[in-house]
Amino acid sequence: MPYMLPTILKNLFTGYATRLYPVQVREPFENARGHVVFLDDKCTMCGVCALRCPSVAITTDKEKNELAFYPLRCIVCEVCVEVCPSDAIELIYKWRPSSYDKPVELHQSTRLAHLRESADKAKEGVEKKRD
Ligand code: SF4
Ligand code: SF4
Repeated sequence: MPYMLPTILKNLFTGYATRLYPVQVREPFENARGHVVFLDDKCTMCGVCALRCPSVAITTDKEKNELAFYPLRCIVCEVCVEVCPSDAIELIYKWRPSSYDKPVELHQSTRLAHLRESADKAKEGVEKKRD
């Protein structure tokens, strides 16, 4: 027992070895892989990210203008960030908060919506000129 005394005393005065997560969140390491975020104002709903994702963590539906992201499937490989032709996906060096369920993030491309709106207006203009 006496040989344990230094360890006991040290543990008494050095505080907890663990953190009170989620109240205390550890700062990410330098160059840590955090999670990906989608920039709806840049996305054109081309679907390349969904085709190349090795975890099937992304699905896209251009007709509906909807991109679904399943964060718990994502292995943060960064492939989608590299292949996106519009730079619409970024890797954030912060970890995603833990979750009790399986969340799905739904995104709509504002860029595609604007492009469709402009195309519709142009079409209307052409039709009016014909009439
Ligand atoms: S995030 Fe990039 S790769 Fe994915 S659908 Fe949008 S533009 Fe295409
Ligand atoms: S980082 Fe990798 S696993 Fe995660 S969504 Fe992108 S391609 Fe898929």
